[in-house]
Amino acid sequence: MRKAVVTGGSGGIGEAICRRLAEDGYYVYAGFSSSKEKAEKIAAETGGEAVKLDVSSSEDILSASEKVGTADLLVNNAGISEIELFTGISKEKSRAIMEINLVGAMNCARAFLPAMIRRKSGCVINISSMWGQVGASCEVDYSASKAGLIGFTKALAKEVAPSGIRVNCVAPGFIMTEMNSRFSAEELELIREEIPLGIFGEPRHVADAVSFLASGRAEYITGQILAVNGGMVV
Ligand code: NAP
Repeated sequence: MRKAVVTGGSGGIGEAICRRLAEDGYYVYAGFSSSKEKAEKIAAETGGEAVKLDVSSSEDILSASEKVGTADLLVNNAGISEIELFTGISKEKSRAIMEINLVGAMNCARAFLPAMIRRKSGCVINISSMWGQVGASCEVDYSASKAGLIGFTKALAKEVAPSGIRVNCVAPGFIMTEMNSRFSAEELELIREEIPLGIFGEPRHVADAVSFLASGRAEYITGQILAVNGGMVV
């Protein structure tokens, strides 16, 4: 059975990705950092497994990669965000954003790739953001981390393509999850008016893009950024 690892599998988008990949026939490892019960519930309902995988912890990454063995698919989805002025954000928060969103994804790929390279097949999908494409005011550190994921995707795709591994990126727009629970109803309405399709994205929209990029239908696609944003950034 093909194996997929989803970091941040306990979150809104991560859960949808785990469920979709399980439907696609993968044995799914739902990675979690703090939400163990949620990850275990998702794993129980999808026939997979929850795995402790704080992407800022070298120990967690090593133990998860040893537990999984050879993965067919790694989805780097774990992420945090912060809305604050660039000049006001603490160095600790800034570092955490980079460590989790960008360095964590790179370290997970570094841990899971050698087995894929030995087998000469595999797939890595990084979850970036439209703000990594165009930048967001008051989310400068977040935007920088997500832009970094885009550069990482393109460069890694070139490096591992000769080993039969594809690396792609999904750049979601505004998706209704816990990450956006900080917005008031009035703020949400103003944001919605900016979305050409007129509706917020749902986690399943991102999961569908991941499912496609992981599938044989995308076998000639690598190093690409697939935007899932209702037309908000084109
Ligand atoms: P969410 O519901 O807040 O979930 C965040 C996930 O990240 C949780 O599973 C959380 O795990 C995990 N996480 C946080 N710190 C971690 C760490 N140190 N190690 C491992 N996992 C960690 O957010 P979401 O909306 O589903 O976001 C998922 C991804 O999509 C993120 O990368 C985000 O930047 C990106 N994205 C989201 C949107 C959006 O509008 N929602 C738009 C563009 C991109 P625990 O709960 O177990 O700690």
